[in-house]
Amino acid sequence: MSTGTIHTGRCECGAVRYQVTGPLRQVVACHCSQCRRITGHYLAATAARRAQFALTRAGGLKWYASSKDARRGFCAECGSTLFWEPHGRDYVSIAAGTLDDGAGLKIVCHIHAADKGAYYDIEAGAMQVPGGEFSVPIPAA
Ligand SMILES: [Zn+2]
Ligand SMILES: [Zn+2]
Repeated sequence: MSTGTIHTGRCECGAVRYQVTGPLRQVVACHCSQCRRITGHYLAATAARRAQFALTRAGGLKWYASSKDARRGFCAECGSTLFWEPHGRDYVSIAAGTLDDGAGLKIVCHIHAADKGAYYDIEAGAMQVPGGEFSVPIPAA
């Protein structure tokens, strides 16, 4: 993905919009039970550096304190899952399906694969880890 590109995205109804003025991480899919409940399936998320991420419309945004380590952002108007933001870290995870253009991104890693739902199999072709440890960096700008 070329640097200098502005990536934009939004919830389904448009009450939450954001932009990223730097590189996006490749996509990590999380199969933990919390992500499965929140999304209705599993969470496929890219990520951006906090300093390069900005909300351009936040009217519908609600934050849910999903654990002591992180909060999740969603649209209170339409229900779209949007963000997962860990406390004290310099990045925000962004639900990849909310990007206006996800070209160049791919699911490269499945985490919490041991907690996946019983009703589906994880497709081959990307790394799988049983727990939450992974290292998929946000590319340098
Ligand atoms: Zn919305
Ligand atoms: Zn998860």
